[in-house]
Amino acid sequence: MSGPLTLAFVDLDDTVLSSLRKLGPGDHTPVALSATDGWQGYQNAAQRRLLRHLLAHADVIPTTGRSRTAFDRVQLTWWSWAILDHGATILRPGGELDPTWTAQVEKILSRSDAALRGLTERLATHLRGTQPELSVRIHDLGGHAIYAVVKHPGRQPGALRAAAAYLQALTEGHADWSVFANDSTLTLMPAAVSKAAAVTYVREQLDPHGQALTVGVGDTLSDLPFMALCDYALTPGRSQVMTAAATLHPVNHP
Ligand SMILES: [Mg+2]
Repeated sequence: MSGPLTLAFVDLDDTVLSSLRKLGPGDHTPVALSATDGWQGYQNAAQRRLLRHLLAHADVIPTTGRSRTAFDRVQLTWWSWAILDHGATILRPGGELDPTWTAQVEKILSRSDAALRGLTERLATHLRGTQPELSVRIHDLGGHAIYAVVKHPGRQPGALRAAAAYLQALTEGHADWSVFANDSTLTLMPAAVSKAAAVTYVREQLDPHGQALTVGVGDTLSDLPFMALCDYALTPGRSQVMTAAATLHPVNHP
């Protein structure tokens, strides 16, 4: 590509691909395999076109909560760096782990491991007494806990609200933790590991003099810190970000 560099940091799920449940009826292209069998992620026409535009004009850096295995199930080609595990993993263009970032994150996770497991155990105990239908799982990276995630088996709307409030109260006043939720998962992770920190790192590698045009694309409130680092931020019209913005300035959808 010639001309000045454009870097697009792009969240994946519900930004450039979604489940069929979210997309509803229409002409959707399967792009991500499920963990078990068949397809799990699809693109509608708008998602397809947006990604095509970005790929034609920018270095597209997937910036996702997906793990390496879940990312590998996405059947799209990026040719660039990738930020995975909510920022804990950075892949270089060839697909290998960035060694400097990996060592940095390893150090952070080794320090937060015991506390994260402790908080998760308290949450799990609380949920066993209040909402035993919710699952709580710790995801590991290189032997250290990276984040804990709470899910409702039927993805029932609002099912995670009480758990989110409990976790907020549990971590209140501790800048060391981030708690974030979308409509199907609630996540607790050390604040020192984030998409925003990973975006800053990748940007320094690709654009050390800060000359590139940067665009951050994402749908959830937890994407805002990395989107805010970019020159421009782009979000789907019907996203968690837009829903939150609409509480400040109401939007009437037809
Ligand atoms: Mg998303």
